[in-house]
Amino acid sequence: MKEFWRDALTLAIKTAASTAIAVIGVSVLIHIVNWDLIVSTVVLATVFSLLIAFVDRIIACTEPDGSSIDKHQINKVVRVMLDPGHGGSDPGAVGPTGLLEKDINLLVAKSVAAILAPVAAVKLTRDTDMALGANVNADLTARANAANAWGADIYVSIHCNSAANSSATGTETFYYTGSTPGAGLAKAIQTRIAAAVSLPDRGVKTGNFAVLRQTNMPACLTEIGFISNPAEEAMLKSPVFQALMAGTIADGIAAYLGLKLPAPGAGPDSAVSPWAKESWEKAVAAGLFDGTNPQGALSREQAAIVFDRLGLIKA
Ligand SMILES: [Zn+2]
Repeated sequence: MKEFWRDALTLAIKTAASTAIAVIGVSVLIHIVNWDLIVSTVVLATVFSLLIAFVDRIIACTEPDGSSIDKHQINKVVRVMLDPGHGGSDPGAVGPTGLLEKDINLLVAKSVAAILAPVAAVKLTRDTDMALGANVNADLTARANAANAWGADIYVSIHCNSAANSSATGTETFYYTGSTPGAGLAKAIQTRIAAAVSLPDRGVKTGNFAVLRQTNMPACLTEIGFISNPAEEAMLKSPVFQALMAGTIADGIAAYLGLKLPAPGAGPDSAVSPWAKESWEKAVAAGLFDGTNPQGALSREQAAIVFDRLGLIKA
């Protein structure tokens, strides 16, 4: 019975469409000498066909290449590829107390992704402790290829710095030599990092890194502190510093892309309520929150991070 109604409806639509076309055709014939009418009919027909093609795309929810889009992502046209450096058998740099660069890169990248999720489509080159290739070169190429294949609008690689001299200190962000968009992205992120943290600003630099060279979109690689410096290793280990760094990188990305991040609840200047003061201070001291915006709303994903860091989630 359902099929009957569907067929009837299709027939009705087709009849209406052919009637409309016939009416337009007849009016064109009647007014064939009237060029204005012919021109306006052609313009109208073109506008309608473009409109129908556009509506078809929305209904079908497919990309031009035919692959399907998550319907909730339709408005999130901006694509951000975040790249937590290293992973798996490649730990990256190792701090004096054994802190692994790959772990900090991943924690910060995941937080950046969570912050940007409401305003952009965000992907990570890896979201677990894994390598993307059999060797370092294959791994780096796989990261760039993933961004290129997805058609990312920007690419941001997150690393911790390292030097033989343990007093080397500060933050810096690289872009590929000659890439003006890359320079703009690097500057948007680095200026905000420099303003947000007390570490020395080593500035924006050019670098011939594989992930910057092999990516097709504006790309940068940010070094969020020296893991080889004992004081900076301790900072990098702190969830407060990680959260601050993630928020700052997300701010820089949003600014570069012209995106407006949702206001975080009551705002960073809100005061803690007297009844919550003791617990709030304990939570801040334990590194669960960064000490700002005590009355801000907690999203489900932020709650998951808090529960996870408390060890309350059984794998
Ligand atoms: Zn690294």
